[in-house]
Amino acid sequence: MQTRRQFLMQTGIATLALGLPSIACGKPYNERPNWMRCLVAEGERRTFQNPVEDIHYYMRVLGLPIQRTIETPVHGDTHDLNNRLSQHPYGNGWTFHRGLYFLNGDYTVFPEPRITIEQVNENVPNTLKLTEFNGYYLTKLVSVRNNEPLYILDELRAFTHGAIYNSRVTRDNNRNGSTSLLEFVIYALALGKTIKEKVPYYWDSPLGKDLQDCLRFSVNQGFAAEVSQTFVKDPRQFVINRMAPFMDNNLTDFAKNSLGWS
Ligand SMILES: [Zn+2]
Repeated sequence: MQTRRQFLMQTGIATLALGLPSIACGKPYNERPNWMRCLVAEGERRTFQNPVEDIHYYMRVLGLPIQRTIETPVHGDTHDLNNRLSQHPYGNGWTFHRGLYFLNGDYTVFPEPRITIEQVNENVPNTLKLTEFNGYYLTKLVSVRNNEPLYILDELRAFTHGAIYNSRVTRDNNRNGSTSLLEFVIYALALGKTIKEKVPYYWDSPLGKDLQDCLRFSVNQGFAAEVSQTFVKDPRQFVINRMAPFMDNNLTDFAKNSLGWS
């Protein structure tokens, strides 16, 4: 199997040929969306420059043990907190819920739509399916996560927080070649497209409208976080060029028509 680096080198040419629409993602969100809730009373809310300090503060508030994974603490801690938030009181044993943490004390919880990660994978462009990473996440994990498609947003949160940590704290410019965050931005688009197609009653419901907004927020923030940890002259264009070979017309149309990319 080819390595990801070899794959990216090969697709360098495809980048020029395919291009991306001039996407509107990466816009900062100045208003807090109405589907976000805060873990603490407004008076107790604290904000941190360092996302690890942020997550640990709110984990302590919830009485959660801090695992301190050595390799990628911010990534692992995000999963721990998201998993804790998934233990939602509305869970009734029939419907899984997925909690998502957004830093600054903000979080949300959505019930899992009745689609599978296998179905999401059908909307993942073929170019992305060739990467080792995709082989791991969307194929191997089908066996344990298949009925929890919002797990994709959990992973997107973890990689987004990792990129924010890198942009603000580590500032390691050797991460320019990593595709993990961008892949999950694309999986999130495929997730949205699959929900819209397979369970329109969810997608079009008031809850589904909030989920649409959450998806839009998450992919835009993921994209922006990737730009912020890319230390080159024109980071936004650089990231667009890297993302282009993994997009196809179906996902681009979905992003335009349903998530408001232009
Ligand atoms: Zn992870």
